Amino acid sequence: MKEIGFIGLGNMGSKMSVHLAKAGYNVSGFDIDYKLMDNLNAFNIKKENSISEISKNKDLIITMLPNGKIVNEVIREILANISNSPTLIDCSTIDVNTSKNLYEFALSNEISLLDAPVSGGTIGALNGTLTFMVGGDKYTFDKMLPIFDLMGSKSVFCGTAGSGQATKLCNNMLLAITMIGVGETFNMAKNFNLDLNILYDVVSTATGSCWSVNNYCPIENVGPTSPADNNFLPGFSAKLMSKDLKLAVNAASQTNSNIAFGKKAEEMFTKMAEGINGEKDFSAIIKEI
Ligand code: NAD
Repeated sequence: MKEIGFIGLGNMGSKMSVHLAKAGYNVSGFDIDYKLMDNLNAFNIKKENSISEISKNKDLIITMLPNGKIVNEVIREILANISNSPTLIDCSTIDVNTSKNLYEFALSNEISLLDAPVSGGTIGALNGTLTFMVGGDKYTFDKMLPIFDLMGSKSVFCGTAGSGQATKLCNNMLLAITMIGVGETFNMAKNFNLDLNILYDVVSTATGSCWSVNNYCPIENVGPTSPADNNFLPGFSAKLMSKDLKLAVNAASQTNSNIAFGKKAEEMFTKMAEGINGEKDFSAIIKEI
């Protein structure tokens, strides 16, 4: 495998594609925002002018796009234009049903498609330390492991098509809920005039410990360095968290799941996303409580 097409060269794709080019693959890129492609010339990423052009003569095509509607259109356009049999990997975060439908549609064209959303944000994309949550068929996942290893530090096969997206939504819903809990806890501790470093010391090693408090405490100078120490620069913005929670709420109604806290989290992060703190890191939810 030598020829890779990368579609969607925004905050994430522009960084992920560079790891592949540096490893010696022939990488071509396409984005509707042409100036993003110019930035990648220096990394030996060839500019293609259209989806139909980038679909030809590839061994692998990766998509990293904003939403399910766009992924659906782009994957269908790729399949209408391929000249051989590339594997497709969609790393975007999208709804589970679109992923499942695209897997079936690709299969009917004898093409393997993996849904492989990521966690780790732009820093993970830059450093090649993303986590990939992958759905599809295991044989294709195993074949693509060397590719995941170049862009990430962990990749997990989660099950049949759509399982990668479903896993990502479950993880981010839990993250959102725990971050709100941490915000409420530290706000109440402030009202008790507690020393927040002492509270951190206790909570981070007691039964209240969780990733949101231990690694991402939303209080300046408390716990390890986090966005709170940098004016809540993302990180992972409230807008992206709101997007993922909307997908989770949608998925919950389709699967008849009771997610009372997940729904409340979606309301809170959507309100934040639509306000002045929308571009801030999601941990700034503590200011909205
Ligand atoms: P982004 O908006 O920066 O990049 C998306 C790119 O896709 C843009 O450059 C846009 O011009 C391009 N695009 C849109 N429509 C296109 C089309 N039809 N053809 C070709 N290119 C097209 O978004 P991002 O932050 O890079 O995120 C990409 C995906 O990764 C999203 O699904 C997001 O939810 C997910 N994600 C993002 C982060 C993060 O921290 N940014 C973390 C985890 C997951």
